[in-house]
Amino acid sequence: MTNIKLLFTCPHNGCNPLDKIREKAHLPAGCDEIFTKMNDVFASTLTSSIANNIENISEKKPYTEIAIIDRKYVDHNREKKCAFEKSSLRAKRAYLDYHNGIMLKIEEMLPANENGLAFLFDIHGARQELITGQPFDVLIGTDEDHSIHALTEIDPNVWGSPNGLIRLLQGKDIVVYPPDPSQTKDPHSLDGGYTIKKYGSKGKKRLVAIQMEVSRSIREDRSSREKLAADMADCIFQFIKPFI
Ligand SMILES: [Zn+2]
Repeated sequence: MTNIKLLFTCPHNGCNPLDKIREKAHLPAGCDEIFTKMNDVFASTLTSSIANNIENISEKKPYTEIAIIDRKYVDHNREKKCAFEKSSLRAKRAYLDYHNGIMLKIEEMLPANENGLAFLFDIHGARQELITGQPFDVLIGTDEDHSIHALTEIDPNVWGSPNGLIRLLQGKDIVVYPPDPSQTKDPHSLDGGYTIKKYGSKGKKRLVAIQMEVSRSIREDRSSREKLAADMADCIFQFIKPFI
């Protein structure tokens, strides 16, 4: 089976331990992102399920990079100096393996002699259950739209159109934040993390990267999770199809 130019990453739901627990007090200056040792529970199951659904619809295989080390030891969605205890060689190895895996898969999706885009979706569990006082199903982050630049350069209207990801998800009755696609470019606290910033269009000219955070209540309930995985796969495939 051939591959589709689509990579799912999942940094925060590994379960394997290492030798040294990451401590906030040991991080160097500049590590300002929220510090937590809590895993995004069921995010890896959700990621695999979305990828399986994509394979069924497209008859092509998406790439996946799913962290196996517990977040207590490595936070794969942070820059290297903030991601693990400096004295742990095993943590460094795990971090580099994860990011090298992503880089190799991106290289494979974007050969120099071809045009077209490739897509990365970074799948998380949302920390909060409410946003602006309201419940939600999925939060979207695009680094103030920098990480989708490769896409909007080709078609400036697609992100806000009925075929943009937010409108497609809403068409399946999924409660998305932000509810209006134009809001993803505003500076706000949900602009996505290190992974989409590093690999999104700022870094790789033909890579489109989007962070998706799913509410805990959906992740924890098997039938809701499976339904959302199927709906997310349908929407993601429809959204990316014209560009790959
Ligand atoms: Zn996360």
